[in-house]
Amino acid sequence: MDTFWGPDFAYLEREDPEIAHVLRDELARQRGGLQLIASENFTSPAVLAALGSTLNDKYAEGYPGARYYGGCGEVDRAELLAIDRARDLFGAEHANVQPHSGASANLAAFAALAEPGDVVLAMELPHGGHLTHGSRVNFSGKWFHPIGYRVSPHTEEIDYDEVRDLALAHRPKLIICGATTYPRLIDFARFREIADEVGAYLMVDAAHFIGLVAGRAIPSPVPHADVVTCTTHKVLRGPRGGMILSRAGLAQRVDKAVFPFCQGGPMMHAIAAKAVALREASGPSFQAYAQQVVDNARALSVALATEGMRPVAGGTDTHLVLADLRDLGVTGRDAETRCDLARITLNKNAIPFDPQPPAVASGIRVGSPSVTTQGMREDEMRLVGRLIGAAVRSDPDTSAGATRLADVADEVAALTERFPAYARQEVMA
Ligand SMILES: *Cc1c(COP(=O)(O)O)cnc(C)c1O
Repeated sequence: MDTFWGPDFAYLEREDPEIAHVLRDELARQRGGLQLIASENFTSPAVLAALGSTLNDKYAEGYPGARYYGGCGEVDRAELLAIDRARDLFGAEHANVQPHSGASANLAAFAALAEPGDVVLAMELPHGGHLTHGSRVNFSGKWFHPIGYRVSPHTEEIDYDEVRDLALAHRPKLIICGATTYPRLIDFARFREIADEVGAYLMVDAAHFIGLVAGRAIPSPVPHADVVTCTTHKVLRGPRGGMILSRAGLAQRVDKAVFPFCQGGPMMHAIAAKAVALREASGPSFQAYAQQVVDNARALSVALATEGMRPVAGGTDTHLVLADLRDLGVTGRDAETRCDLARITLNKNAIPFDPQPPAVASGIRVGSPSVTTQGMREDEMRLVGRLIGAAVRSDPDTSAGATRLADVADEVAALTERFPAYARQEVMA
């Protein structure tokens, strides 16, 4: 039928009830709890429609106008729209929208800017960096020579003098900033200065915060970086995927690094969905959203502090809070489990100089993107902070604790009923 252009849940339910059941249960899970994973968000029905479309079927190795397959006229239009929208939104000279994920974008950026064995200066993983910034278990640590910088033990913020000292001592080919768990703004201009002083490329991994940049809620790294890599599914609220923005002079190297060096055929359904998300992110309503994300994270950090959970680095300028639970005598692992029992989804996280191993951790990381998409504001963040505090202090192995966790779960259910995810029944109605 030529009207069949996209997702049809009733059809899936008839064809494959087992998988349909999983989709139904996942939607219920998303709706029924508080989603506070800082890297997650709820995409729009328009993004989901593009993702579940027949663009999935098309092979299109290459780039618009220069493909290795016929029949690419339609998908070319989708990719050109995504590229134009990305360049306009971020003021970038070049955009590559093909990376399958943030990690793939980083692999391609390394390939474009460095050779195996080159020295790469990046933030250490336990201090907020990402696996792809030099971890031994990742290509970045195995094939390159990583030097790590840390946050200051006093301020828990990046120590730019230490970054400069390390750069002068080790002469990296590539300097990376941009983190997974860093609540404060990063001084991109200062990183640019340091990179220029030692003749290094500057790569900003904006995976977490590119959505805040799109919404003009925080400063942009684009004017300062040689290459900006990012995901499209975190605050930006698009499909799972990656993207690379760069200066025009690096365009060819970036494009060749993505394809054919790292990837084969691009995911055209995901690229169309990226175009949809980039259009959504370019309007005034997304700017209001991004500012509210930051305001909500700030309110949440104050609320957590009130509950005895110390915000690392003293608070947040972004969408996430890293809280130190040691004053409560509860580990990050136990806090995650307890919150889970109260239908609050968050993750344990190492704090800087954490005395605990990563699988236990002394902190939790919470983010405001999803609850802000649901329409919650500062008042709700104060309630969320109290609910997290109550859950974290409740030991499920005692009957009082188990009862308290059930009470918190009831309060969570009441809150999410007032602010439902996918409220308009546009998804799997
Ligand atoms: C999330 C993230 C990535 C990886 O993104 P994936 O899509 O999961 O591969 C890379 N870098 C940073 C800083 C991130 O936070």
